[in-house]
Amino acid sequence: MNQIKTGKFIAQIRKEKGMTQRQLADELLISDKTVSKWETGKGMPEVSLMMPLCEVLGINVNELLTGERIPDESYKEKAEETMMDLMRNKKGRGKLIALTVLIMLLVIAPMLIIAALIRWYDLPDNLIHVTLIPLFIGIIAIIFVDCSVGYYQCEECNEKFVPKLSANYLFANHKPDSRKIRCPKCGKNCWCKHNLY
Ligand SMILES: [Zn+2]
Repeated sequence: MNQIKTGKFIAQIRKEKGMTQRQLADELLISDKTVSKWETGKGMPEVSLMMPLCEVLGINVNELLTGERIPDESYKEKAEETMMDLMRNKKGRGKLIALTVLIMLLVIAPMLIIAALIRWYDLPDNLIHVTLIPLFIGIIAIIFVDCSVGYYQCEECNEKFVPKLSANYLFANHKPDSRKIRCPKCGKNCWCKHNLY
């Protein structure tokens, strides 16, 4: 599932039907801002709107989710693929969250121990800054895990890759499931979807 691809697909079909964003919005009793949000990949249609949207556009939900026309003969295969994609990503997301929490706990423990040692041994208070070391290591570890779990997929050329941990990655614009990074194949700086399996 790819929000940006779905957005482009909605726009494409809407234009094929000769509809404006306003007209599509009116059919669905929503604001044209919402339609614009979908089409620019900034949001997915709510589940309750998916069926009505598909009806107006003359597509099916599977086509909406995959962001492309699916010929009848490969429909079942594609539906299963979409389903598996959703499930695997959900599982991967859970693992990533668990790992992040674990790292945070591993960071907090040494911070507390250092703080306690300073108090017990009556060490100078400014030694408390030492607790920043595990915090720093923890933050790096979390970013590293986020970068290396699963793979990213380029929006432009569909290349799958694991990005290098660099400033380009670190400071990249990001959303919960994608990041604007440079694709190693086509070299474009575009939204790449983070697949977590
Ligand atoms: Zn690419």
